[in-house]
Amino acid sequence: MGHRIWLSSFWVAYLMGLRVAIIGAGISGLQTGCFLARAGHEVTIFERQKLPPVNPSSIAGGMLAPYSEIETLPMRLTQVGLRGIALWTQILGENNAEKLIKKTGSLLLSHPTDSHMLERFAKNLEFVGHKWFWANGDEVRALEPALENTFQKGIFIPDEAFLIPSQALEMLMECFEKYGGRIIQEETNPVRLGPDFDWVVDCRGYVENLDRDLRGVLGEILIIRNIEFHLSRPIRLMHPRYPLYIVPRPDHVFAIGATMIESAGEQEGLVTARSAMELLSAAFTLHPSFAHAKILQLQSGVRAAYTDNLPRLHIDSQSRYMRFNGLFRNGYLLAPVIACCIEKYITHEIEDSDLSFFSGLSNHLIL
Ligand SMILES: Cc1cc2nc3c(=O)[nH]c(=O)nc-3n(C[C@H](O)[C@H](O)[C@H](O)COP(=O)(O)OP(=O)(O)OC[C@H]3O[C@@H](n4cnc5c(N)ncnc54)[C@H](O)[C@@H]3O)c2cc1C
Repeated sequence: MGHRIWLSSFWVAYLMGLRVAIIGAGISGLQTGCFLARAGHEVTIFERQKLPPVNPSSIAGGMLAPYSEIETLPMRLTQVGLRGIALWTQILGENNAEKLIKKTGSLLLSHPTDSHMLERFAKNLEFVGHKWFWANGDEVRALEPALENTFQKGIFIPDEAFLIPSQALEMLMECFEKYGGRIIQEETNPVRLGPDFDWVVDCRGYVENLDRDLRGVLGEILIIRNIEFHLSRPIRLMHPRYPLYIVPRPDHVFAIGATMIESAGEQEGLVTARSAMELLSAAFTLHPSFAHAKILQLQSGVRAAYTDNLPRLHIDSQSRYMRFNGLFRNGYLLAPVIACCIEKYITHEIEDSDLSFFSGLSNHLIL
Protein backbone atom coordinates (compact mmCIF):
# COMPACT_ATOMS: atom_id res chain seq x y z
CA MET A 1 0.00 0.00 0.00
CA GLY A 2 1.41 3.36 -1.01
CA HIS A 3 2.15 5.99 1.63
CA ARG A 4 0.63 9.42 1.31
CA ILE A 5 3.30 12.01 1.99
CA TRP A 6 2.05 15.19 3.58
CA LEU A 7 4.14 18.25 2.82
CA SER A 8 3.71 21.57 4.57
CA SER A 9 3.51 24.57 2.27
CA PHE A 10 7.07 25.43 3.34
CA TRP A 11 8.36 22.19 1.81
CA VAL A 12 6.17 22.52 -1.28
CA ALA A 13 7.60 26.01 -1.81
CA TYR A 14 11.13 24.81 -1.09
CA LEU A 15 11.03 21.76 -3.32
CA MET A 16 8.97 22.83 -6.30
CA GLY A 17 7.87 26.42 -5.88
CA LEU A 18 4.35 27.70 -5.47
CA ARG A 19 2.07 28.95 -8.20
CA VAL A 20 1.72 32.69 -7.64
CA ALA A 21 -0.42 35.16 -9.60
CA ILE A 22 0.35 38.87 -9.45
CA ILE A 23 -2.13 41.44 -10.75
CA GLY A 24 -0.48 44.54 -12.22
CA ALA A 25 2.87 45.18 -13.91
CA GLY A 26 3.74 48.45 -12.20
CA ILE A 27 6.74 48.80 -9.91
CA SER A 28 5.05 46.83 -7.10
CA GLY A 29 4.03 43.90 -9.32
CA LEU A 30 7.36 43.67 -11.14
CA GLN A 31 9.52 43.89 -8.01
CA THR A 32 7.36 41.27 -6.30
CA GLY A 33 7.49 39.11 -9.43
CA CYS A 34 11.29 39.27 -9.58
CA PHE A 35 11.79 38.37 -5.91
CA LEU A 36 9.33 35.46 -6.08
CA ALA A 37 10.52 34.06 -9.44
CA ARG A 38 14.14 34.29 -8.28
CA ALA A 39 13.18 32.19 -5.23
CA GLY A 40 11.94 29.44 -7.56
CA HIS A 41 8.20 30.06 -7.61
CA GLU A 42 6.09 29.72 -10.72
CA VAL A 43 4.98 33.32 -11.15
CA THR A 44 2.50 34.83 -13.62
CA ILE A 45 1.88 38.58 -13.82
CA PHE A 46 -1.47 39.66 -15.27
CA GLU A 47 -1.44 43.16 -16.77
CA ARG A 48 -4.52 44.66 -18.38
CA GLN A 49 -2.60 46.98 -20.72
CA LYS A 50 -0.41 46.27 -23.70
CA LEU A 51 3.25 45.97 -22.66
CA PRO A 52 4.96 48.13 -21.56
CA PRO A 53 1.97 49.63 -19.73
CA VAL A 54 1.56 53.37 -19.17
CA ASN A 55 0.91 53.77 -15.45
CA PRO A 56 2.07 55.94 -12.53
CA SER A 57 5.20 53.78 -12.36
CA SER A 58 6.18 54.54 -15.95
CA ILE A 59 5.71 58.33 -15.64
CA ALA A 60 7.36 58.79 -12.21
CA GLY A 61 10.28 61.13 -11.58
CA GLY A 62 12.49 58.24 -10.49
CA MET A 63 13.97 59.69 -7.33
CA LEU A 64 15.17 57.41 -4.54
CA ALA A 65 15.00 60.03 -1.84
CA PRO A 66 14.46 58.79 1.72
CA TYR A 67 15.74 62.02 3.30
CA SER A 68 14.19 64.58 0.96
CA GLU A 69 10.82 62.91 1.41
CA ILE A 70 10.76 63.18 5.20
CA GLU A 71 7.77 65.50 4.98
CA THR A 72 5.72 62.59 3.55
CA LEU A 73 7.76 59.69 4.97
CA PRO A 74 8.17 59.20 8.73
CA MET A 75 11.76 59.32 9.93
CA ARG A 76 11.73 55.70 11.06
CA LEU A 77 11.41 54.77 7.37
CA THR A 78 14.60 56.54 6.30
CA GLN A 79 16.72 53.47 7.01
CA VAL A 80 14.13 51.25 5.33
CA GLY A 81 14.36 53.49 2.27
CA LEU A 82 18.16 53.16 2.22
CA ARG A 83 17.69 49.37 2.29
CA GLY A 84 15.33 49.79 -0.67
CA ILE A 85 18.13 51.41 -2.69
CA ALA A 86 20.49 48.55 -1.80
CA LEU A 87 17.90 45.92 -2.77
CA TRP A 88 17.79 47.22 -6.35
CA THR A 89 21.33 45.90 -6.74
CA GLN A 90 20.36 42.57 -5.21
CA ILE A 91 17.51 41.99 -7.64
CA LEU A 92 19.08 43.39 -10.84
CA GLY A 93 22.69 42.30 -10.26
CA GLU A 94 25.76 44.57 -10.00
CA ASN A 95 26.11 45.38 -13.72
CA ASN A 96 22.51 46.35 -14.39
CA ALA A 97 22.20 48.22 -11.11
CA GLU A 98 25.35 50.21 -11.86
CA LYS A 99 23.89 51.23 -15.23
CA LEU A 100 20.52 52.13 -13.72
CA ILE A 101 21.01 53.66 -10.29
CA LYS A 102 22.79 57.00 -10.26
CA LYS A 103 24.22 57.49 -6.78
CA THR A 104 24.90 61.19 -7.12
CA GLY A 105 23.12 62.43 -4.02
CA SER A 106 20.63 65.28 -4.30
CA LEU A 107 20.62 68.99 -3.69
CA LEU A 108 17.91 71.04 -1.95
CA LEU A 109 17.83 74.73 -2.78
CA SER A 110 15.85 77.87 -2.06
CA HIS A 111 16.01 81.44 -3.28
CA PRO A 112 17.36 83.83 -0.58
CA THR A 113 13.83 85.13 0.19
CA ASP A 114 12.66 81.59 0.98
CA SER A 115 15.69 80.47 2.99
CA HIS A 116 13.46 79.93 6.07
CA MET A 117 12.03 76.91 4.20
CA LEU A 118 15.49 75.40 3.87
CA GLU A 119 16.21 76.12 7.57
CA ARG A 120 12.97 74.44 8.58
CA PHE A 121 13.77 71.41 6.45
CA ALA A 122 17.24 71.20 8.03
CA LYS A 123 15.59 71.02 11.45
CA ASN A 124 13.74 67.88 10.31
CA LEU A 125 16.93 66.41 8.89
CA GLU A 126 18.69 66.84 12.24
CA PHE A 127 16.52 64.03 13.59
CA VAL A 128 17.70 61.52 10.99
CA GLY A 129 21.43 61.91 11.61
CA HIS A 130 24.40 63.56 10.01
CA LYS A 131 24.25 62.29 6.45
CA TRP A 132 23.64 65.73 4.97
CA PHE A 133 25.60 68.97 4.62
CA TRP A 134 24.98 72.66 4.25
CA ALA A 135 26.47 73.95 0.99
CA ASN A 136 27.35 77.65 0.48
CA GLY A 137 27.14 79.42 -2.90
CA ASP A 138 30.58 78.20 -4.05
CA GLU A 139 29.82 74.63 -3.00
CA VAL A 140 26.46 74.70 -4.80
CA ARG A 141 28.28 75.92 -7.94
CA ALA A 142 30.94 73.23 -7.57
CA LEU A 143 28.23 70.56 -7.46
CA GLU A 144 26.10 72.07 -10.26
CA PRO A 145 28.01 74.68 -12.29
CA ALA A 146 24.98 75.42 -14.55
CA LEU A 147 23.18 77.02 -11.60
CA GLU A 148 25.73 79.87 -11.72
CA ASN A 149 25.17 82.46 -8.97
CA THR A 150 21.45 81.99 -8.42
CA PHE A 151 21.65 80.09 -5.13
CA GLN A 152 23.77 81.06 -2.13
CA LYS A 153 22.75 78.21 0.13
CA GLY A 154 21.67 74.60 -0.21
CA ILE A 155 21.56 71.21 1.47
CA PHE A 156 23.48 68.32 -0.08
CA ILE A 157 22.30 64.77 0.72
CA PRO A 158 24.95 62.35 -0.56
CA ASP A 159 23.11 59.04 0.02
CA GLU A 160 20.18 59.71 -2.28
CA ALA A 161 19.98 58.35 -5.81
CA PHE A 162 17.82 58.40 -8.93
CA LEU A 163 16.94 56.26 -11.94
CA ILE A 164 15.02 56.45 -15.22
CA PRO A 165 11.68 54.70 -14.58
CA SER A 166 11.18 53.36 -18.14
CA GLN A 167 14.65 51.80 -18.04
CA ALA A 168 14.04 50.38 -14.56
CA LEU A 169 10.74 48.78 -15.58
CA GLU A 170 12.30 47.31 -18.73
CA MET A 171 15.18 45.82 -16.72
CA LEU A 172 12.75 44.35 -14.18
CA MET A 173 10.69 42.76 -16.95
CA GLU A 174 13.82 41.21 -18.47
CA CYS A 175 14.96 40.03 -15.07
CA PHE A 176 11.53 38.56 -14.31
CA GLU A 177 11.52 36.60 -17.57
CA LYS A 178 15.10 35.46 -17.01
CA TYR A 179 14.03 34.02 -13.65
CA GLY A 180 11.28 32.07 -15.46
CA GLY A 181 8.29 34.37 -14.83
CA ARG A 182 5.69 35.11 -17.49
CA ILE A 183 3.48 38.11 -18.18
CA ILE A 184 -0.01 37.75 -19.62
CA GLN A 185 -1.96 40.68 -21.01
CA GLU A 186 -5.35 40.27 -19.37
CA GLU A 187 -7.64 42.27 -17.12
CA THR A 188 -8.50 40.08 -14.15
CA ASN A 189 -9.32 40.04 -10.44
CA PRO A 190 -8.35 38.03 -7.34
CA VAL A 191 -11.61 36.07 -7.17
CA ARG A 192 -11.15 34.74 -10.68
CA LEU A 193 -7.51 33.76 -10.13
CA GLY A 194 -7.88 32.33 -6.61
CA PRO A 195 -8.79 28.71 -7.53
CA ASP A 196 -5.84 28.29 -9.95
CA PHE A 197 -3.04 29.65 -7.78
CA ASP A 198 -1.48 29.04 -4.35
CA TRP A 199 -1.24 32.80 -3.75
CA VAL A 200 -2.67 35.88 -5.43
CA VAL A 201 -0.78 39.14 -4.91
CA ASP A 202 -2.83 42.20 -5.79
CA CYS A 203 -0.63 45.04 -7.11
CA ARG A 204 -3.25 47.02 -9.03
CA GLY A 205 -2.30 50.50 -7.76
CA TYR A 206 -5.15 52.95 -7.47
CA VAL A 207 -8.58 51.38 -8.08
CA GLU A 208 -11.67 53.12 -6.74
CA ASN A 209 -13.14 51.39 -3.65
CA LEU A 210 -10.43 48.71 -3.65
CA ASP A 211 -9.65 49.23 0.02
CA ARG A 212 -11.32 51.15 2.82
CA ASP A 213 -9.11 54.23 3.17
CA LEU A 214 -7.24 54.07 -0.13
CA ARG A 215 -7.41 57.36 -2.06
CA GLY A 216 -6.00 58.67 -5.34
CA VAL A 217 -3.66 61.66 -5.51
CA LEU A 218 -3.08 63.00 -9.00
CA GLY A 219 0.50 63.86 -9.92
CA GLU A 220 1.51 65.80 -13.02
CA ILE A 221 4.97 65.91 -14.51
CA LEU A 222 6.67 67.83 -17.31
CA ILE A 223 9.33 66.33 -19.58
CA ILE A 224 11.38 69.05 -21.21
CA ARG A 225 14.60 69.42 -23.22
CA ASN A 226 16.89 72.34 -22.41
CA ILE A 227 20.14 72.18 -24.36
CA GLU A 228 21.49 75.23 -22.51
CA PHE A 229 21.33 73.56 -19.13
CA HIS A 230 22.98 70.60 -17.44
CA LEU A 231 22.52 68.87 -14.09
CA SER A 232 24.29 65.88 -12.58
CA ARG A 233 21.79 65.16 -9.82
CA PRO A 234 18.15 65.80 -8.80
CA ILE A 235 17.42 69.25 -7.41
CA ARG A 236 14.54 70.17 -5.15
CA LEU A 237 13.48 73.75 -5.06
CA MET A 238 11.90 74.88 -1.81
CA HIS A 239 9.48 77.47 -3.04
CA PRO A 240 6.28 78.73 -1.36
CA ARG A 241 4.28 78.63 -4.62
CA TYR A 242 6.11 76.14 -6.81
CA PRO A 243 7.85 73.42 -4.79
CA LEU A 244 9.41 71.29 -7.48
CA TYR A 245 11.98 68.67 -8.22
CA ILE A 246 13.95 68.39 -11.38
CA VAL A 247 15.58 65.12 -12.36
CA PRO A 248 18.19 64.98 -15.13
CA ARG A 249 17.85 62.44 -17.95
CA PRO A 250 20.17 61.82 -20.90
CA ASP A 251 20.43 64.34 -23.81
CA HIS A 252 19.59 67.45 -21.75
CA VAL A 253 16.12 66.14 -20.94
CA PHE A 254 14.65 66.92 -17.51
CA ALA A 255 11.66 65.56 -15.61
CA ILE A 256 10.05 68.37 -13.63
CA GLY A 257 7.39 67.52 -11.12
CA ALA A 258 5.25 66.86 -9.54
CA THR A 259 1.93 68.35 -8.55
CA MET A 260 -0.17 66.75 -5.79
CA ILE A 261 -3.87 67.09 -6.38
CA GLU A 262 -6.12 65.36 -3.90
CA SER A 263 -8.55 64.08 -6.48
CA ALA A 264 -8.41 60.90 -8.47
CA GLY A 265 -11.44 62.26 -10.34
CA GLU A 266 -9.16 64.45 -12.48
CA GLN A 267 -8.59 62.77 -15.81
CA GLU A 268 -5.51 60.58 -15.60
CA GLY A 269 -3.01 61.20 -18.39
CA LEU A 270 -4.06 64.84 -18.92
CA VAL A 271 -2.55 67.94 -17.29
CA THR A 272 -4.43 71.14 -16.48
CA ALA A 273 -3.27 74.45 -17.96
CA ARG A 274 -2.74 75.78 -14.44
CA SER A 275 -0.43 72.92 -13.46
CA ALA A 276 1.49 73.24 -16.73
CA MET A 277 2.01 76.95 -16.05
CA GLU A 278 3.16 76.23 -12.49
CA LEU A 279 5.63 73.56 -13.54
CA LEU A 280 7.02 75.84 -16.26
CA SER A 281 7.24 78.80 -13.87
CA ALA A 282 9.09 76.62 -11.41
CA ALA A 283 11.58 75.58 -14.09
CA PHE A 284 12.05 79.22 -15.06
CA THR A 285 12.76 80.30 -11.48
CA LEU A 286 15.45 77.61 -11.36
CA HIS A 287 17.17 78.90 -14.48
CA PRO A 288 16.09 81.47 -17.14
CA SER A 289 17.27 79.20 -19.99
CA PHE A 290 14.08 77.15 -19.45
CA ALA A 291 12.27 79.92 -21.36
CA HIS A 292 13.78 78.44 -24.57
CA ALA A 293 13.39 74.79 -23.61
CA LYS A 294 11.23 72.43 -25.68
CA ILE A 295 8.30 70.65 -24.04
CA LEU A 296 8.41 66.96 -24.88
CA GLN A 297 5.57 65.62 -22.75
CA LEU A 298 3.10 66.60 -20.06
CA GLN A 299 1.82 63.54 -18.21
CA SER A 300 -0.21 62.68 -15.16
CA GLY A 301 -0.95 59.61 -13.08
CA VAL A 302 -2.90 58.74 -9.96
CA ARG A 303 -0.81 57.73 -6.97
CA ALA A 304 -2.54 55.36 -4.58
CA ALA A 305 -2.23 56.47 -0.95
CA TYR A 306 -3.64 55.46 2.43
CA THR A 307 -4.60 58.12 4.98
CA ASP A 308 -1.13 57.98 6.57
CA ASN A 309 0.52 58.13 3.11
CA LEU A 310 2.43 54.92 3.84
CA PRO A 311 2.36 51.70 1.84
CA ARG A 312 0.47 48.79 3.25
CA LEU A 313 0.71 45.04 2.86
CA HIS A 314 -2.47 43.22 3.75
CA ILE A 315 -2.12 39.44 4.11
CA ASP A 316 -5.07 37.09 4.24
CA SER A 317 -3.36 33.74 4.84
CA GLN A 318 -6.66 31.88 4.87
CA SER A 319 -7.68 32.81 1.35
CA ARG A 320 -4.00 33.14 0.31
CA TYR A 321 -4.47 36.70 -0.89
CA MET A 322 -2.15 39.67 -0.43
CA ARG A 323 -2.73 43.28 -1.30
CA PHE A 324 0.33 45.49 -1.73
CA ASN A 325 -0.70 49.10 -2.27
CA GLY A 326 -0.44 52.76 -1.22
CA LEU A 327 3.12 53.43 -2.39
CA PHE A 328 2.16 57.09 -2.86
CA ARG A 329 5.34 59.13 -3.67
CA ASN A 330 7.85 56.40 -2.85
CA GLY A 331 7.17 53.45 -5.13
CA TYR A 332 10.72 53.14 -6.43
CA LEU A 333 12.21 53.53 -2.98
CA LEU A 334 10.02 51.14 -0.98
CA ALA A 335 8.68 48.55 -3.44
CA PRO A 336 11.87 46.40 -3.26
CA VAL A 337 11.64 46.21 0.56
CA ILE A 338 8.00 45.11 0.53
CA ALA A 339 8.59 42.70 -2.37
CA CYS A 340 11.40 41.12 -0.34
CA CYS A 341 9.05 40.75 2.68
CA ILE A 342 6.42 39.11 0.45
CA GLU A 343 8.95 36.62 -0.90
CA LYS A 344 10.06 35.65 2.63
CA TYR A 345 6.47 35.28 3.76
CA ILE A 346 5.41 33.12 0.81
CA THR A 347 8.56 30.99 0.69
CA HIS A 348 9.36 30.51 4.35
CA GLU A 349 6.19 31.66 6.06
CA ILE A 350 8.24 34.05 8.14
CA GLU A 351 7.43 37.64 8.87
CA ASP A 352 10.45 39.74 8.02
CA SER A 353 11.13 42.46 10.61
CA ASP A 354 10.47 45.10 7.93
CA LEU A 355 6.95 43.76 7.55
CA SER A 356 5.85 45.51 10.74
CA PHE A 357 6.38 48.88 9.03
CA PHE A 358 3.78 48.02 6.42
CA SER A 359 1.07 46.36 8.48
CA GLY A 360 -0.96 49.56 8.70
CA LEU A 361 -1.18 49.05 12.46
CA SER A 362 1.63 51.31 13.65
CA ASN A 363 1.80 53.64 10.71
CA HIS A 364 0.18 56.50 12.57
CA LEU A 365 3.29 56.78 14.76
CA ILE A 366 5.59 59.50 13.51
CA LEU A 367 8.91 58.16 14.81
C1 LIG B 1 3.97 62.25 -11.42
C2 LIG B 1 4.49 61.19 -10.48
C3 LIG B 1 5.81 61.25 -10.07
C4 LIG B 1 6.32 60.27 -9.19
N1 LIG B 1 7.65 60.31 -8.84
C5 LIG B 1 8.16 59.33 -8.04
C6 LIG B 1 9.55 59.32 -7.72
O1 LIG B 1 10.31 60.19 -8.12
N2 LIG B 1 10.01 58.31 -6.91
C7 LIG B 1 9.20 57.32 -6.44
O2 LIG B 1 9.68 56.43 -5.73
N3 LIG B 1 7.88 57.31 -6.74
C8 LIG B 1 7.34 58.29 -7.53
N4 LIG B 1 6.01 58.30 -7.85
C9 LIG B 1 5.15 57.29 -7.21
C10 LIG B 1 5.20 55.97 -7.92
O3 LIG B 1 5.10 56.18 -9.29
C11 LIG B 1 4.08 55.07 -7.40
O4 LIG B 1 4.27 54.89 -6.01
C12 LIG B 1 4.10 53.73 -8.09
O5 LIG B 1 3.99 53.93 -9.47
C13 LIG B 1 3.01 52.79 -7.62
O6 LIG B 1 3.21 51.60 -8.34
P1 LIG B 1 2.18 50.41 -8.37
O7 LIG B 1 2.87 49.28 -9.05
O8 LIG B 1 1.64 50.17 -7.02
O9 LIG B 1 0.94 50.92 -9.26
P2 LIG B 1 0.80 51.34 -10.85
O10 LIG B 1 2.05 51.97 -11.31
O11 LIG B 1 -0.45 52.09 -10.85
O12 LIG B 1 0.64 49.94 -11.55
C14 LIG B 1 -0.53 49.18 -11.45
C15 LIG B 1 -0.69 48.32 -12.70
O13 LIG B 1 -1.81 47.44 -12.50
C16 LIG B 1 -2.52 47.32 -13.72
N5 LIG B 1 -3.89 46.90 -13.41
C17 LIG B 1 -4.83 47.58 -12.70
N6 LIG B 1 -5.98 46.86 -12.62
C18 LIG B 1 -5.74 45.70 -13.27
C19 LIG B 1 -6.53 44.53 -13.50
N7 LIG B 1 -7.80 44.44 -13.07
N8 LIG B 1 -5.99 43.48 -14.21
C20 LIG B 1 -4.71 43.57 -14.65
N9 LIG B 1 -3.92 44.66 -14.48
C21 LIG B 1 -4.42 45.71 -13.78
C22 LIG B 1 -2.44 48.74 -14.30
O14 LIG B 1 -2.69 48.74 -15.71
C23 LIG B 1 -1.02 49.14 -13.96
O15 LIG B 1 -0.12 48.82 -14.98
C24 LIG B 1 5.47 59.24 -8.72
C25 LIG B 1 4.15 59.16 -9.16
C26 LIG B 1 3.65 60.14 -10.04
C27 LIG B 1 2.22 60.03 -10.51
